Amino acid sequence: MPSAPLDDCFAHDPERLPAAEALALLRARVRPVVLRETVPLAQAHSRILASPVASDRDVPGFDNVAVDGFAFAHDALMPARPTRLPLAAGRAAAGHPFAEQLAHGMALRVLTGAPMPDGADSVLMQEDVSVEGDAVVIPAGVRRGANRRKAGEDMRRGQIVLQTGLRLRPQDVGVAASAGHGTLEVFRPLRVALISTGDELCEPGEPLPPGGTYDANRAVLLGLLQGLGCEIHDFGILPDRADAIDQAMLRAAELDAVVTSGGASRGDEDHVVRAVERLGKLHFWQIAVKPGRPLAFGQLGRCTVIGLPGNPVAAVICFLRFARPVLVALGGGRWPEPHGFAVPADFAMAKKPGRREYLRARLVGGPGPDLTVARIEREGSGILTSLTEADGLVELAEDVTRVGRGDPVTFVPFSEFGVVG
Ligand code: AMP
Ligand code: MG
Repeated sequence: MPSAPLDDCFAHDPERLPAAEALALLRARVRPVVLRETVPLAQAHSRILASPVASDRDVPGFDNVAVDGFAFAHDALMPARPTRLPLAAGRAAAGHPFAEQLAHGMALRVLTGAPMPDGADSVLMQEDVSVEGDAVVIPAGVRRGANRRKAGEDMRRGQIVLQTGLRLRPQDVGVAASAGHGTLEVFRPLRVALISTGDELCEPGEPLPPGGTYDANRAVLLGLLQGLGCEIHDFGILPDRADAIDQAMLRAAELDAVVTSGGASRGDEDHVVRAVERLGKLHFWQIAVKPGRPLAFGQLGRCTVIGLPGNPVAAVICFLRFARPVLVALGGGRWPEPHGFAVPADFAMAKKPGRREYLRARLVGGPGPDLTVARIEREGSGILTSLTEADGLVELAEDVTRVGRGDPVTFVPFSEFGVVG
């Protein structure tokens, strides 16, 4: 049985946890909670591999011909001059090996993918050969082994070609097919409850009462969870009432994880954190990041609770940086570490030390040395359109206090967080 994903070792400073520490804690504690199943290859795309895949065979399984042309034994060639080789009767094609031994000093018509004929070790492309009646003339300077693909050059029999925890991309499924597997063992999708909280929230498309706000977070988070391959249980919008939140949390506790947005701080109408404290265990709820507070991690029995902030930009950024790796790991995937790269800043700013900051950012100029990264100016954490204008996030470390124009900063494209259209 999978073990509980988080445990008591979460004891920590109850105030702001440095981002790196929060991530390290989560990474160390979170274990897969999902069972495995075996699926045919066609259903394996985008699933997470639950056991390593070894090749059943050498791939290719035999030496074979890489181009359409003529095969021959290299040592029948004259070193410095063109060599005329008589053509043997017949040919070799993909799926149709040449049944005989090719006589030394003869050439054979061969097509791409044909098993290398016995007696030949090199192939010349038809465009490079002149055919003269029932012979071919091979120019000087051909390399021994030319245009021959060696058995096992792609995979060796028994070699592990795909590792557990890999989210299967199309090429990975292709490798499994090539290795001889018709099915793969994958993890079952993580079952995740999705909850928006707030008395002001309304369903998009419905009339909006005075003081109302459309629920944007659930729309974004639904897409992000779909992108992770989760089985989503949409609990909808919950009012700011302790009993409603408690009830939903108890239902969610049957699942693997619950992602909420809003109501996660210590205000009068913030019931998420209190519900987790009452019904389960709250591990931490404040991380030293901007935008970020409040961001809560806890558990209800075996269900991991992730309480995101209500402000839409903060909710999305916290999801990408903190919730996403946790959900991936709970679902059996390898902990994803987004790769950033250094790009000169097209802006200058001062920054408070002691917390990590994520700026919405856009690449400008380039490609090449003119590439810079610009900051999206409208930076309020409720301004969701700023995320639409952005290509990714700039990550500023805790100790940074200022950025000068032209200084290298770390830019992480959205694709590194799995955000694609
Ligand atoms: P909260 O964290 O509940 O105090 O919410 C902070 C801000 O985010 C408030 O202005 C909320 O109206 C807004 N907010 C919370 N949840 C959502 C949501 N699902 N969609 C859009 N805005 C939200
Ligand atoms: Mg609220």
